[in-house]
Amino acid sequence: MDIKTVSERLRQSLPAHAVQTDVPMSEYTTFRIGGPCDLMVLPETEEQAVFAINVLREMEAPFVVVGNGSNILVADAGYRGCVVHMVGGGHTIALDERAGRVYAGAGENMLTVARFCAEHGLAGMECVSGIPGSLGGTVAMNAGAYEKEMKDVVHAVRVLKPNGTVEWVPCAEMGFGYRTSRVQKENWIVLGVALQLFKDDPAAIHERTNDYTRRRRDKQPLQYPSAGSAFKRPQGYFAAKLIDDAGLKGAHEGDAQVSEKHAGFIVNKGHATCRQVKALIKKVQDEVYRQFQVRLEPEIRFLGEDA
Ligand SMILES: Cc1cc2nc3c(=O)[nH]c(=O)nc-3n(C[C@H](O)[C@H](O)[C@H](O)COP(=O)(O)OP(=O)(O)OC[C@H]3O[C@@H](n4cnc5c(N)ncnc54)[C@H](O)[C@@H]3O)c2cc1C
Repeated sequence: MDIKTVSERLRQSLPAHAVQTDVPMSEYTTFRIGGPCDLMVLPETEEQAVFAINVLREMEAPFVVVGNGSNILVADAGYRGCVVHMVGGGHTIALDERAGRVYAGAGENMLTVARFCAEHGLAGMECVSGIPGSLGGTVAMNAGAYEKEMKDVVHAVRVLKPNGTVEWVPCAEMGFGYRTSRVQKENWIVLGVALQLFKDDPAAIHERTNDYTRRRRDKQPLQYPSAGSAFKRPQGYFAAKLIDDAGLKGAHEGDAQVSEKHAGFIVNKGHATCRQVKALIKKVQDEVYRQFQVRLEPEIRFLGEDA
């Protein structure tokens, strides 16, 4: 990719601060790991996002769309391409009171959206409210918590397709499965989401949300940077229990450590590198397989060459 040509083309229509070069990805991931991406675009509106992605596709520049970077491990050498970082900020959330729906842009933070729903007496987001992702990222991944997944609250998703068209896709046609959706399989970009909720007392919704937040705080090592659960749940097992039973709690490679609080998490205890996290993932996979013949599959997405 010729960075200069691509960035010049993008800057013709985007504000200067929305196109940046050589941006350290460690500042844009919850793992706090990763070298620089060549180019970063920070679209503030749907129009800007569509423009930027269409330009990148037209110029055949490698790119990836990132939300809150809470499920990504970026290579120590960074990413040779453009990161389109979807930005929220709370200004793209709207209420359709009659239908009991909330519309929000892909870059909105989950907690911000959940709070908005609760304030308007709309329930349904409580279980997933503590997932530290963007709305677009959680829909792309069909993230879930406490027996609920995003598919349970999505009414329709506004996507940008590879042919450049923008369409509303109903929930039933999103191909949602365990931590997957058509977004990933068909290279769609989530631009916005319509959530289907139900009426309830705001105080009761707040209380349930607070309860789930407390449970997370009690169980998860939130004091350290991480990307959440490192592994998908293998059928018939729980990854954290297998890792714990294999005696791997506290195992480490440099500053990358299997959390002592929750064995499903790999945490960054200071200056962990991508290489160390990868080595630890392999160590855990090998040991769990040796002891229980279960192959753990990473839930974390890898970005960049040496990752
Ligand atoms: C402390 C902690 C707790 C967590 N708890 C949970 C949990 O309970 N349940 C759970 O499921 N996950 C959990 N996670 C993982 C993570 O928060 C989720 O996977 C979340 O959905 C990722 O959202 P994001 O915006 O950060 O996506 P990113 O990490 O930025 O991206 C993840 C993937 O989605 C793609 N993507 C992002 N935005 C878009 C978009 N707009 N359009 C198309 N593709 C997009 C990216 O390309 C990438 O492939 C946790 C993580 C942490 C750090």
